[in-house]
Amino acid sequence: MGIFSGRRFFVYGNGVSGKAAYRALKKSGGKVKIYADARGGFCAPPEKDYYAAIVSPGIRPEHAVFEYCDSRGILVMSEAELGFKLAKGETVAVTGTNGKTTTTRLIADMLGGVACGNIGYPVSAAAVKTDKTLVCELSSFQLRFARGIRPNVAVITNIAEDHLDYHGSVEEYWKCKCSVANEMRGGYLVLGEDIPVSALASLKTGAEIVRCSLDGKVDGAYIEENYFCFNGKRVCHTDYLRLQGRHNIKNALCAIAAAKCMGAENTSILAALSSATAAPHRICDIGFARGKKWIDDSKSTNVASCLAAVSATEGTLCLITGGRNKGLDFDGLFSALDKRVTAVIAMGESAQEIRDCAAKYGVTARVLVVDCLADAVKSAADTDADTVLLSPACASFDEFNSYAERGEKFKAEVGALK
Ligand code: ADP
Repeated sequence: MGIFSGRRFFVYGNGVSGKAAYRALKKSGGKVKIYADARGGFCAPPEKDYYAAIVSPGIRPEHAVFEYCDSRGILVMSEAELGFKLAKGETVAVTGTNGKTTTTRLIADMLGGVACGNIGYPVSAAAVKTDKTLVCELSSFQLRFARGIRPNVAVITNIAEDHLDYHGSVEEYWKCKCSVANEMRGGYLVLGEDIPVSALASLKTGAEIVRCSLDGKVDGAYIEENYFCFNGKRVCHTDYLRLQGRHNIKNALCAIAAAKCMGAENTSILAALSSATAAPHRICDIGFARGKKWIDDSKSTNVASCLAAVSATEGTLCLITGGRNKGLDFDGLFSALDKRVTAVIAMGESAQEIRDCAAKYGVTARVLVVDCLADAVKSAADTDADTVLLSPACASFDEFNSYAERGEKFKAEVGALK
């Protein structure tokens, strides 16, 4: 007998997470059917006494399925929440604007747990398969209808502007990021460094707060004399961290704090830090061509991640940005553009907007507008920068199906230059 035995559900959306939710509910004894849009429109489930609806995170808030559930008093649950309810072991939830995947992978390694969630393995699929600790990456889309997620440890890596086209306002987006923490009645909440005080205004948690800092001792994880430390004790030397860049030191501090709260030994932490590699399309060196180093950071889809990638490089830089804007402004990019950036190539749908923003800060001379990624690569090859960095600060959907497809195309275009 599963915890949902005899209860009736419908799943809306038949993508990866919808199918996982369907299978997990079946396995736990639920009565479940799966529906999805037909010919572009809402396919209303037959009138039944539903306990809850699991709606795919990809379905936009204005979709008719929400009105359908609202007007009938049907509880809307996210696939991630379902996964947490079904989890057999302990759980860690990782959210934040940037660094989620990297931090999730590190924590899972440190704990010998299973990385799941937004990382590409639905939480509900992992929950019915294993009794190991689940370390779940949660996007703001997954959190929109998540009320009952109560992990042992939650992490907010950082909070910056993102996804404003979906959430409507910064406040709504930040509220989503704080929603897991606000549900917690105990456990620990790890807060990364880069969280604006105004974002914390939405935070009312029952969890014990654990801090992270690069600049001195805090209650939590910090660096002292080149050692990662936690609550007054050394964990290991910072040289053990294989991932490059200041942003990855911040991710490592969040991971160490979470792992320590879960009782990890220093040896497991050290082993995870020293074996970690960057996930694909995250500041990955793809080699030399036309006398330059080329770096693929296609996963960078907001201004904060682009700035982190710029700081992680050395020498003069040609920065390739642009794509589909998610409702963000680019001021943060140009108000303090690193002098090492000698050329910015703005591509795709948002190219002109990026150029206009650069003009406000008097850096137009360094900005070149192009139509597509292939043209961006050709133009970048003609600059005299030491390094070319693809870190778009935008989504890929104007030209590609995903950030991964954009990164692969970049690699292929650079390969053709060699
Ligand atoms: P997410 O899963 O939140 O998208 P990732 O770990 O996949 O984050 O990293 C994606 C990109 O975000 C990286 O390639 C880098 O450009 C940037 N990034 C990673 N960690 C941080 C951080 N702590 N602060 C700012 N930017 C970051």
